Amino acid sequence: MADIQHLIGGQSTAATAGRTQPVYNPATGEATSTLHLASVADVDAAVASAKAAFAEWRYVSIAKRTKLMYKFRNLLEANADEIATRLTAEHGKVHSDALGEVARGIENVEFACNIAEQLKGSFNEHASTGVDVYSVRQPLGVVAGITPFNFPAMVPLWMIPNAVATGNTFILKPSERDPSAPMFMAELFHEVGFPDGVLNVVQGDKVAVDRLLEHPDVKAASFVGSTPIAHYVYSTGTANGKRVQALGGAKNHMIVMPDADIDMSADAAVSAAYGSAGERCMAISVAVAVGDVADPLVDAIRARMEKLRIGPGDDPASEMGPLITREARDRVAGYVGKGQDAGATVVVDGRDAQFDNDGFFLGVSLLDHVTTDMDVYKDEIFGPVLCVVRVDTYDEGVKLIEDNQWGNGAAIFTRDGATARRFQDEADAGMVGINVPIPVPVGYHSFGGWKDSLFGDTTMYGPEGVRFYTRGKVLTSRWPEPSESQVDLGFPTN
Ligand code: NAD
Repeated sequence: MADIQHLIGGQSTAATAGRTQPVYNPATGEATSTLHLASVADVDAAVASAKAAFAEWRYVSIAKRTKLMYKFRNLLEANADEIATRLTAEHGKVHSDALGEVARGIENVEFACNIAEQLKGSFNEHASTGVDVYSVRQPLGVVAGITPFNFPAMVPLWMIPNAVATGNTFILKPSERDPSAPMFMAELFHEVGFPDGVLNVVQGDKVAVDRLLEHPDVKAASFVGSTPIAHYVYSTGTANGKRVQALGGAKNHMIVMPDADIDMSADAAVSAAYGSAGERCMAISVAVAVGDVADPLVDAIRARMEKLRIGPGDDPASEMGPLITREARDRVAGYVGKGQDAGATVVVDGRDAQFDNDGFFLGVSLLDHVTTDMDVYKDEIFGPVLCVVRVDTYDEGVKLIEDNQWGNGAAIFTRDGATARRFQDEADAGMVGINVPIPVPVGYHSFGGWKDSLFGDTTMYGPEGVRFYTRGKVLTSRWPEPSESQVDLGFPTN
């Protein structure tokens, strides 16, 4: 089995703690490599490398940073298939989905290629007699990124491009479940010529995260993961004086109005609920059926579910792969039973699906007549289970979103412009889709939810990412008017 170690100062660096854990191929259930987990000393070595690199990197010209970023973009694109292959082998999502993830990640590198525009300051001349005032944004220093298993390539790319393009150096702590794709991308990053130490990767768990959050030389942390850990990372990091943005979990609702196109809504619900086995923070997990749309909508979703092909992610025929771990599969299956026991109607039971291998597969489930007191409604299931809540009016649907703990994404399906416009005002979520089930913003906007989906006040990537990784400085300067003697020395007077 391959060993997966750290990348520190541009070198593959052996972990010192002697703690390891297996990385699995979820489609076969087999352990495929051994991940070496960081000790405090390993994290300290990465921080020291990043700190030393920062001293020079922050003064590397914007022109050179931009050229490197373009090269990185091109190398990522040239290796997209390889990144996606590694991703599928450890995450399980189907290859086409993995390729889509890489493409969405590359958008953020493209945004960072335009960093000169983002770093333009502002200037007032003659603020007072002989006085000019100007504002600039400067890098923070060493910054850390802690990322989840579900987008092992894309989420690191939400962070790294803007962080390094603005002059910071970076330490990535990828998920221990699927570290190979981010590690490979870090190798490509070095291949294009970024100096050693600008990007370091430490493999690890809570030990590594805790050390990053307490190390005095780490100035900021970007986190994406579940809500309890996001809250922990935010409170620990900020208590230690660091700037933190921590994106958490979600329970995204999709309201389907009586006037909606049923086929379009059902297609959207199926791809948004079951794509990537429902392991997306922007997955739709609740379909809110308004009025008499419920019966035809449930029928249309069920008909599509029957045709879904579930299998290994590297099989081109598969449309959905396995879940990330055996435990995740069993936990998600348990929710179907919990929903049934609580009185929901199990329209399609994913536990009935049979698979002839030891992969962490689970069929897709549809629960109807779900109510807000049920665990299947209250918890983030993070698997291929779609709940249908039936309401009589649009107002009841919007109220469900407002009352929910999370506010990552929300969508409405309707043919009526006035309803859509009301929804864009009233939806209590950070990212809203109108006839778009998964409204993940493009790389030149920013990504982030509301309520328990985001701790901190800065969302990720795009302009807010640049803002997060820089701090403002305002300069006030006074120069005397040219004097007679300076005129004599050749200074112009007009
Ligand atoms: P997770 O919270 O278990 O892990 C995320 C990261 O935190 C990993 O790097 C992990 O090693 C680390 N970690 C885990 N336990 C820790 C602890 N006790 N102390 C310190 N660090 C710890 O999340 P996950 O299971 O990898 O990812 C799925 C979750 O991420 C879901 O809840 C999903 O909604 C969320 N997510 C949110 C977004 C978003 O943009 N809001 C995007 C992707 C995923």
